[in-house]
Formats: sequence, C-alpha cells, structure tokens
Amino acid sequence: MTTLGTPLSSSATRALLLGSGELGKEVAIELQRLGCEVIACDRYANAPAMQVAHRSHVFSMQDGEKLREVIASEKPDLVIPEIEAIATEVLLELEGQGLKVIPTARATNLTMNREGIRRLAAEELGLLTSPYHFVSTLDEAHRAVEQLGFPCVIKPLMSSSGKGQSVIRSIDDLPSCWEEAKEGARGSADDRCIIEGFVSFDYEITLLTVSAVDGIRCCAPIGHVQIDGDYRESWQPAAMVDEVLEKAEAMAKSVVSALGGYGIFGVELFVRGEDVIFSEVSPRPHDTGLVTLVSQDLSEFDLHARAILGLPVGEVVPRVPGASHALLGRGDGIPIFEGLVEALSVPTSQLRLFGKPECKGERRLAVALASGRDVDEARQRARACGERVKIALT
Ligand code: AMP
Repeated sequence: MTTLGTPLSSSATRALLLGSGELGKEVAIELQRLGCEVIACDRYANAPAMQVAHRSHVFSMQDGEKLREVIASEKPDLVIPEIEAIATEVLLELEGQGLKVIPTARATNLTMNREGIRRLAAEELGLLTSPYHFVSTLDEAHRAVEQLGFPCVIKPLMSSSGKGQSVIRSIDDLPSCWEEAKEGARGSADDRCIIEGFVSFDYEITLLTVSAVDGIRCCAPIGHVQIDGDYRESWQPAAMVDEVLEKAEAMAKSVVSALGGYGIFGVELFVRGEDVIFSEVSPRPHDTGLVTLVSQDLSEFDLHARAILGLPVGEVVPRVPGASHALLGRGDGIPIFEGLVEALSVPTSQLRLFGKPECKGERRLAVALASGRDVDEARQRARACGERVKIALT
C-alpha cells in the first residue's frame, strides 16, 4: 500500500484494531497521524483505543462469527491484532480471500498460543530455549516436572500478563500451581499448559524488531523487570556485550523473518553468560517498549504504523536513555489519579494515563516515563514520578 486516503471518505485507509488496550491506543494515535480511519474493537466498552478511534465495536475477539460480521461490515484495508486471544482461524480463512492481516494471519495464529511459537523457534529454527513440555492433565504435569526437575515454570498456553503463571519449586507445589494455571487459562480456546525448565538468567531483554518495506532492523535492547510474569519497569538501552547483542539480533531477525509480514515484533530473550535463550515473541508492539515513547526518535508505535502501511522506517534512531515505570491499580473501582503535580515535577518525566474505564483486581492503568544522562538516572526519575502518583478507586 503506497497511497493513503482521507478518513471518513470513500478513499479512507481503514484500520481495524482487534484489541484496544493501552498499546492499541498508541497505535491508533499514530495511524490517525497518518490520516487513517481507525476502528477499535474489544470485549468491553470504552477501552483505551476506542476513546481515540473513529468508531468501535464491542465483542469477544474469540467469537469467530461476530469477527466475520464486523470485518464484512467495516471492510478494513488492514486488520491489526493487538491481543493474543483472537479467533485466528477466521483471519486465516479471510486472508486467503484477500484480507490483509498484520503481520500475517499465520504469524497471529502461531503466536497466539505458546505452543505454535515455541515449536517454530525450538524445533524448526533450532533456537536455544528452555526445555519444555505441553501438558493437558495433572498426570502429564507430574511426568513433565519429573523430567524437568525443580524449579520449573508453569504457564497456560494462552494467557498474558503473568495470568496463571507460577514457579513450581517442589512436587508439593504442583497441585496448587496446576489449579492456578487452569484458572488463568479459563475461557481461552486452548486450556493446556506449558511447563518449562526455570532459566536462571543474568538479565532479560526485549529486542523490538521492525520488519518494513526497507528491511528488518532491531531497536536498541530494552531491559526490564517482571514481577509475577508482569512487566513493571523497562529501560533502553540495556547494557550488553557486543557479541551477545549480535547473537540476540540474529535470533530476533530469524524469528521475525520466519513469521513474515510487516510490523514491529517484541522478541523476548533471556541472557545467561554468553548464551541467549529465546523466550517469546509478540507480533505487535510490546508493553516493555512503552519506554520508546521517550527513548527513540520513532517510538515502537510510530514504527508499527509506518511498517504496516507499507512505508519505510529508515534507521531507528535512539534519542536518549529512557525508562518506563508501570502504575498498577489494586482493588475494584473507577480510577482517579492524584499527586500528578508532584509526579510531573520530576525532571523529564511524562505520564500516560490509559483511560481504562475500571480496575478489577490488579491492573496496569498508567505508565511513568523519563529520560536521563544514563539509564540509571532515567530509571530513578521514572520510578520517582510513578511513585508520586496515587491511584484512588471509587
Ligand atoms: P512470559 O509470559 O512467558 O513472557 O513470562 C513472563 C516473565 O516470567 C518473563 O519475562 C520472565 O521474567 C519470567 N519467566 C518466564 N519463563 C521463565 C523461565 N522459563 N525461567 C525463568 N523465568 C521465566
């Protein structure tokens, strides 16, 4: 696609977002900056991207019939999956009839559950991963942990933000970890689990890798801290030895070219000594990549929008060392943000309040961003800004 039309006219370039969270919201904004007509979908009303889109539809992305109906009525030029749990079989079928799915329907299908991508990376591409077993029953889980040894990590095949994920430290932990994983998988199309050997990594990174009409490029590595499988803090650039970074980039490019299509990919890697161990990849902007809103010339959202529209991205230019600090609501209610004057008096700090209509349990509601002379200063500032924000739930 090399021409772009005018929104809300017959020439409009229509982009349909499947999933409308905080990352989708930034993608919607970037697409609108390029004059696209954006239609946002999610299973709940007033989701963040819906608040900046031209139109929205509320339905479960796993409801194949409804998905088909919305695509038929909106006739989008691009379908942009922003979450994992989608009726990808419908996308596969419609792609065969000419629908453009980002990056491709196959990539969406392979990465929507941990099995497809793990088998592609480990078994087809021969990349180093943790040892793993896929299990559907507690008996199979028993056999898997016996082979893997302790500790090991159990995760539902379909889940995100650490839901249902836990570390099994001894055989006594297995029943409760199994229950937690089953609970985390509830309602998903595939309720099996993966059990992986625990990787005692030195650090972990996300290598944002953009595939566009002018080639495949990696952004500077992003370091991050996860708690219970959920991202809390990220920074860019993460310090890495050149040879290890080269290995990581080669791995990321190999996965991204195997998946195919244009867009940004969040390649998650563990580093242990000289080894780079592949963990996961998302064929879309990555939450740890929120830091690029301050640390890069073009953020991961700009890059995604440009790449998926078939435009060149050029060299990815790092701007300044940057950091992000996720802000979580805890409890139930409608969020109200306080302490903002104090928070934003931290030098270079910025806030993104996602506009999520409610909090239930623990939920990411905003992010604090900052830059600095080095990543330590940026991290300190992002944390200081984030900690001054108080989230009341009413
Ligand atoms: P995931 O949802 O697979 O990206 O996992 C979320 C986070 O959990 C990762 O970023 C790691 O911090 C941690 N984690 C996941 N799998 C493993 C593993 N096999 N060994 C050690 N830590 C892990």
